[in-house]
Amino acid sequence: MNAARHILQTTFGYPDFRGNQAQIVETVAAGGNAMVLMPTGGGKSLCYQIPALLREGVAVVVSPLIALMDDQVAALRLAGVEAAAVHSGVPSEQLHQIADAVSAGRLKLLYVAPERAVSEKFLRFLDHHLISLFAIDEAHCVSQWGHDFRPEYRQLGLLAQRYPHIPRIALTATADSQTRADIKHYLHLQEAAEFTASFDRPNIHYQIVEKNNGKKQLLDFIQKQMRGQSGIVYCLSRKSVEDVAAFLRENGLNALPYHAGLPNETRTEHQRRFTREDHIIMVATVAFGMGIDKPDVRFVAHLDMPQSIEHFYQESGRAGRDGLPAHSWLCYGMNNLMLLRERIAQSGADETQKQIELQKLNAVFDVCETAGCRRVPLLRHFGEASEPCGNCDNCLNPPVRFDATESVRKLLSCVYRVGQSFAAGYVISVLRGKADDWIARNRHDTLSTFGIGADLSEKDWRSITRQCIGLGLLDSDPYHFHALRLTEAAKPVLKGSETVLLRPLKRAKAAVQTPRGDWLRTEREERLWQALRQWRIGRAKADNVPAYIVCGDRTLQDIVRRMPKQLSDLSEIYGLGAAKITQFGAEILAVCARFAAQQNDFEEMA
Ligand code: ADP
Ligand code: ZN
Repeated sequence: MNAARHILQTTFGYPDFRGNQAQIVETVAAGGNAMVLMPTGGGKSLCYQIPALLREGVAVVVSPLIALMDDQVAALRLAGVEAAAVHSGVPSEQLHQIADAVSAGRLKLLYVAPERAVSEKFLRFLDHHLISLFAIDEAHCVSQWGHDFRPEYRQLGLLAQRYPHIPRIALTATADSQTRADIKHYLHLQEAAEFTASFDRPNIHYQIVEKNNGKKQLLDFIQKQMRGQSGIVYCLSRKSVEDVAAFLRENGLNALPYHAGLPNETRTEHQRRFTREDHIIMVATVAFGMGIDKPDVRFVAHLDMPQSIEHFYQESGRAGRDGLPAHSWLCYGMNNLMLLRERIAQSGADETQKQIELQKLNAVFDVCETAGCRRVPLLRHFGEASEPCGNCDNCLNPPVRFDATESVRKLLSCVYRVGQSFAAGYVISVLRGKADDWIARNRHDTLSTFGIGADLSEKDWRSITRQCIGLGLLDSDPYHFHALRLTEAAKPVLKGSETVLLRPLKRAKAAVQTPRGDWLRTEREERLWQALRQWRIGRAKADNVPAYIVCGDRTLQDIVRRMPKQLSDLSEIYGLGAAKITQFGAEILAVCARFAAQQNDFEEMA
């Protein structure tokens, strides 16, 4: 294990293993099989990269996306590791060079797409070479259960039969039991050691707000809390992607759209700019995301409610992979919920499947509606028990519930009076005494509940209705215009034998979250930080790699903090291994020296 730690420190520049990385590395380096479930950003890559460096031969890494492979290879090379990717974009001349490097025993990691990994030609090539291990990244692609099913992944099971003595490690961030079972089955990993990391992402701050003007709320959030940061905004439809991206741009933000309806070149270009440049906001449908390895995404915003907790978790998990503070912000409204329910009801799925989908949606809704910690129900969903986190809106700013029994009874009885066959908007109009034609035609302006809710605004009633659905007092029928219906649980409330506590109808202004530059203590630090970022952009352009591959934000922070003066100081810096110090060390020291000199000037002036 000392050898593994030595590689971790000298090649990758990290002081210690995280979580169960050490055990995984040990298992695979010793020739064992492993199945690794680790959340996005948990540090899966090192789990096979270090064993690949410890063992003899070349490691074959199966990865589903070209962009992902290229980034990994670029990062490894910068760290001084011999790695290559073979895919359709690689010219044949280069393929020969790669083959030579494998034959000469120089290449340590070879990235391939699944279809190539199982092709007879490639396998025959492997037959003649020493393989250190097989790593199967994004292993959930074997499962139809997930959203990224790739049929070729199923055939990867043949590696087990053809190379029974070579260790195999499968890695994924998808944790549900069905997907797990599929991975074990199709990849023949029944006997493999299983490593599950906690799915908690403590650096992500969760904030969920009720929608009234979503775009405006989003703009506020970005301008007040996320200025100048990279982020992703997820929208439900292509149209709203276009609309929101244009709106953000009009307001001076660097936003780009991404959805399946855009031409291929535009999508590739936008994705490339997002990963390579700083401060871009990608406004996207869920088509965007898998394989986005950018570690310094500072926020993920959902402008609509996601359809399941898994989706929410995967999407929001793209923020803060570097472990630095990041935000997950979600804006939801009742119309949004109704639309999603309707989509499920009208989908071609069979009845059982529809019920499953509706339940999944309700689970998200519960997280949105809870007055308690957001993280507790999220983690419970992945089978983890936890305490309130202290890093979500409700923990930091607990909503004080009030006795809303009287209003709730008005609502419930109105639902009953209109025959449980009208949607929320209608019921609220009756409550508020709005005598429109439709209500008059139905003679609902003569009901005893007509106008008894005039004391509250439409928005207040929507909040009450939504909370009643959340509490299970009301149900809406997705097959029948979302008509509100009473549930069993509503009876004791209607009879007056139970009180109902609700969250405040108007949210107290959330305490403004600490903006990120907070760790910068002085103006000099701030200017050094900006100078280092400038340097990083220039370096990344020159080397034609994403900025974060040159070095991450955490590395730059560490430099600002420690103010290295000579090369030997750099080995202390987080994320700087020997190869990077050789390549960039002098440049980094030069940037620092400029500011150290200025500091002395200031001190003399003072
Ligand atoms: P995953 O594939 O699980 O989403 P990565 O392997 O891309 O995550 O790792 C996420 C980030 O964490 C990367 O920037 C990586 O360099 C960093 N990282 C991984 N392991 C460690 C460690 N032991 N110490 C510090 N940083 C680490
Ligand atoms: Zn919390």
